[in-house]
Amino acid sequence: MTHVFHRNPKVSLKTAVNGKGIRLFDSDGKSYIDACGGAAVSCLGHGHPAVIEAIKHQLDTIAYAHTSFFTTQVAEDLADFLQKKAPGNLNHVYFVSGGSEAVEAAMKLARQYFVEIDQTERRHFIARRQSYHGNTLGALAIGGNAWRRQPFLPLLIEAHHVSPCYAYRDQLSSESEEQYASRLARELEDKILELGPSTVAAFVAETVVGATAGAVPPVKTYLQKIRAVCDKYGVLLILDEVMSGMGRTGHLFACEEDGVVPDIITIAKGLGAGYQPIGATLCTDKIYDVIVNGSGFFQHGHTYIGHATACAASLAVQKTIQEQNLLANVLQRGEQLRGELHQTFANHPHIGDIRGRGLFVGIELVQDRESKKPLDPALKTHARIKAQAKENGLLVYPMGGTIDGRLGDHILLAPPFICTEADISDIVGRLSDTVSQVL
Ligand code: PMP
Repeated sequence: MTHVFHRNPKVSLKTAVNGKGIRLFDSDGKSYIDACGGAAVSCLGHGHPAVIEAIKHQLDTIAYAHTSFFTTQVAEDLADFLQKKAPGNLNHVYFVSGGSEAVEAAMKLARQYFVEIDQTERRHFIARRQSYHGNTLGALAIGGNAWRRQPFLPLLIEAHHVSPCYAYRDQLSSESEEQYASRLARELEDKILELGPSTVAAFVAETVVGATAGAVPPVKTYLQKIRAVCDKYGVLLILDEVMSGMGRTGHLFACEEDGVVPDIITIAKGLGAGYQPIGATLCTDKIYDVIVNGSGFFQHGHTYIGHATACAASLAVQKTIQEQNLLANVLQRGEQLRGELHQTFANHPHIGDIRGRGLFVGIELVQDRESKKPLDPALKTHARIKAQAKENGLLVYPMGGTIDGRLGDHILLAPPFICTEADISDIVGRLSDTVSQVL
């Protein structure tokens, strides 16, 4: 009998007792390669000495001070680091405790911005059907996962959805990438026009889709075309990089790869790498100045914003990534990972697509490659792969269920940035064994 209910009591789970580098160990002494970092969180692996030292030092000095009384040097330093690294003039950082909180802050920032400039009609959020933005009510409202939303529909604010950028299934064979991107941008424009441009606050999208479909990057120029549509109608662009940001794709901010600067960006998971719960919402000078010169401050807040120990852990994580040039490793190992997956599964009838950027890689499973028909959901292939991989000492993040009204099974790989060439080959070998055992 378990007394925690943050997990399914019907599923028996081993107890994790130790973590070192890319490996986790359970109470039976079994070791697992953490090839997904939980949910793309543990980007530095486990038990990193520099991060542990920084946390200890922070606890010895000041663990926590409420932000209405004090700031802390470590929160200021982390904000300076993020501001210097962020593209464009995303110069202002609001620290929270995780991804959903970062998205809530983004939505409220967008709304307050329009209230300050007297465009109070702007209240609509448009997002994409294939998306996950968190489980708090605002984030859940804009997310596209029908199953997660369903029981809570009466509690959710009205949100609007357009098609995702999902080239594997939706780009027509008669269409170039550019034409596909233009079609999607037109769909967003039509939605804005349908709602009335003066009523739309923001368009929200994950730069690279994560939890709903296993690392789906946008086609080239998609985000640029979306940015142009938003600008045309004064709609803010919010990019959610809670999963894809902080180096996961090989750049600290994934949108750098698309040449686009949003008005607001959210980050979390890799920011603290699991050593402490932390997220952040960054906004541009335009939004910050309007709010500060208007009512004076962002009308929001949580008890643990800017938590000093969380900021210390995060600063140590980010310094380590920079000092060890780990983003170069992310790009190199990511190429290797996708290359080896393509080679291993070149003739596999059920591996439909292998995609992603950096060490953020998705594999889509199908009945057959030709028709791309999804596997029968009753088979719960994703769950069987997760269980079998665990048996084989490998942790992968599986997904299945209704996505954009369609069904599919996916596997997400998000190994730590410290992975070596041999680690990547080990991951692919164990995954190959797992897929042969299950399919
Ligand atoms: N946005 C995205 C893109 C995510 O992937 C997630 C978590 N999977 C969230 C928001 C919510 O983050 P959290 O679980 O930390 O609240």
